[in-house]
Formats: sequence, C-alpha cells, structure tokens
Amino acid sequence: MELVFREKPTANQWWDWRWQWEHAAHTLEEAAAYLGVSPEKWGHCRRGESAYPLFVTPYYLSLAESPSLDDPILRQCIPSDAEVDCQEGGEADALSEEACSPVPRLVHRYPDRALLVTGNLCALHCRHCMRKRDWGRAMAPLSQGELTQVVEYLRAHPQVREVLVSGGDPLMLPEANLRMIIQALSSVASVEILRFGSRVPCALPQRITPRLAAILASGKPAWLACHFNHPRELTREVQAACDILNRAGVCLVNQSVLLKGVNDDPETLGRLFTSLLRFHVKPYYLFHGDPIQGAMHFRTGLEKGLQIMDQLRGRISGLALPAFAFDLPKGAGKIRLQPEQCLGKDENGAPLFRSWQGNVLPYPQGCGRD
Ligand SMILES: *Cc1c(COP(=O)(O)O)cnc(C)c1O
Repeated sequence: MELVFREKPTANQWWDWRWQWEHAAHTLEEAAAYLGVSPEKWGHCRRGESAYPLFVTPYYLSLAESPSLDDPILRQCIPSDAEVDCQEGGEADALSEEACSPVPRLVHRYPDRALLVTGNLCALHCRHCMRKRDWGRAMAPLSQGELTQVVEYLRAHPQVREVLVSGGDPLMLPEANLRMIIQALSSVASVEILRFGSRVPCALPQRITPRLAAILASGKPAWLACHFNHPRELTREVQAACDILNRAGVCLVNQSVLLKGVNDDPETLGRLFTSLLRFHVKPYYLFHGDPIQGAMHFRTGLEKGLQIMDQLRGRISGLALPAFAFDLPKGAGKIRLQPEQCLGKDENGAPLFRSWQGNVLPYPQGCGRD
C-alpha cells in the first residue's frame, strides 16, 4: 500500500538500503504513521512492543495491503500482546543452542556442519524469531579474537564440511567484517562450503549490491538460505536482488516458517513456492514453528503442515516442494515429515500407496521383491 511520508522519497532513495535503514520504524507510533492509522488503535500491541521492540523498514511495511493487523505482512512485523500473553510452553532457547556451543558463537550439533552466530543485528525484527532471546542483549559483531577461536576449532574438527553463517543477519555486518569472516572460514582447508542465512533479500533487498554479492562469493562456494514466507514478499526489488546474487554465483534456497494467519494454507504456500522458482530460488525447508517464548501464537500444529504438504504434492512442481521439518527439543535435531502415503499391503502382499489424487494403488513387486 501507499505509505504516508513526511517527505516522499525519490526512486533513488527508495532503492538505497541506507535510506531504508535510516527511515526504519522503531516504534508503534512510527509504523502507524507510515500506514496512516492512529496508534491508539494498536493499544493491544503495547506490552508486546515493550517485551520485544519493533524494527521494520518502509520497504517491508509497504508490502502490506491494508493497515489491518491481520495482514500477513503486518503480522510478521508489528508486535502483538499475544507475544507476552499466550506463551505457555515456550522457551527462550527451545533448541538448546547454547548447550551445543563448544566455543563462543559456534553451535556444533551435526557431524559435518556447524552454525556461526555473527551478531544480532537484523534488517527486520521478525515477530516469530527463534532467537528473540538475543534481542535484549548487547551483542557486538564477531570479534577477531572470537573468530580465531572458531577457526582453531574448525581446524581441529575437519569433519565440519559446511559452516552456516547466521546471526542476527550476517548480511547486515559491515562489509569489512563480513569479508574478514569469509576469508577466515575459507582458509580452513576442510571447510568446503559456506551457507549464509539471511532475511535481507526479503526485508531489505536494496542491500544486495553487486559488491556485497562479490564479497559473499569471494571464499568457498557460497549458498544463501533466504527467508520468504508470503508470495507478496516477492517484488521487483527482490527479483533484482536475486538476479545479482545468481549472477555472482551464489546459489539460493529458501526456508519458510509455517505461521498461523500468515501462510497456513495450501493456496498461499503453493503460490510462494512456485514463484520462488521463477526467481531461481529453490524452496528448501518449510519449518513448523519452534516453541519459542514470544512466538507461540504463530504455531499451527504439525498436522496442519502435513495437510498442506499433502495438498501440494503432485499439484505443483516437485522442484517447488520444500521438506516439511521441525526441531526436536534439547538440540536433538531436525525431523523431516512426509504425509503418509503408504497404506499397508494388499492381499498379494504388494504395498499400497495413496496417489496425489487420492486413489489407492498397489505397487507391483516382480523380481525386485525383497
Ligand atoms: C538446522 C541446522 C543446521 C543445518 O541443517 P540442514 O538439515 O543441513 O539444513 C546445522 N546446524 C544447526 C545447529 C541447525 O540448527
């Protein structure tokens, strides 16, 4: 929707990430002013805001279709009192990341990959954030000393083939800092690929410049996991950002979170997943919401995700289908879930399957029988 500006930006300003950053809303008042609504209407968001502050660029706000708080864009960026009121069962660190951290900033849970937390600065405060526990903390960007420790750990653990560079958002780091991190990680012979996790392509696509893309591609082969949750987030600004990254040789995948009232229906997710392919982004994961304090009201239940995946299979390109997954408590790891398609055996012992159209058919065995 058209935003209300004190001074309307020029096209050049709109496409400049620094302008977006400097004009970001930090309070309910500022966000309401952009949307032309009276902040009194948002009285039921105040306690949510004081627990978890707001931060959103004009660009992301402009993706809303109306100033209603039910809008799928606004649900992802405007606080709600549900963030403090309906949080039973939620934990600050539901995935026990802190317990799986051998050296500061590194989470090493799976044998061949480790996750690096580079800072806590982001281009958007996602209301469903799984690291909300870090919002209130002062966290400096990764220092040279911490990086040295991380590199020493990686050298001593050559089974780590892949480093996930996350945050916060690594793409919000100063360029010199990002370059230093990429060089340090890439100097470890056993590290084969870098995977960046970022919401910048979605929340601040203007930040993706050829220069930034060249930095990302300057070390070991680079993959970037984006975070798009709704088809309305796929704009021409995003198209430009994805083109720049693709041209630089950065491979793109997407991780969505299944969010109540945002994308919890097959039509919305089907449109998101198929549209991502046009931008050369492969849908990788659809995550069920973790039981995170401050984000419990977004959870749908696993059954809902399975139903949606079942409604999408066969109907949209197999390339467009992500894996539906969730994380077990206490850092026990990810579980991928598939809708049940195998229905036992027929009278001849042949396994029975439910097709995408709902027909039940035996699969012939022949000499492949085991
Ligand atoms: C999700 C995650 C990974 C990556 O898992 P993939 O299945 O390879 O995407 C690695 N480390 C940690 C700590 C994770 O939470």
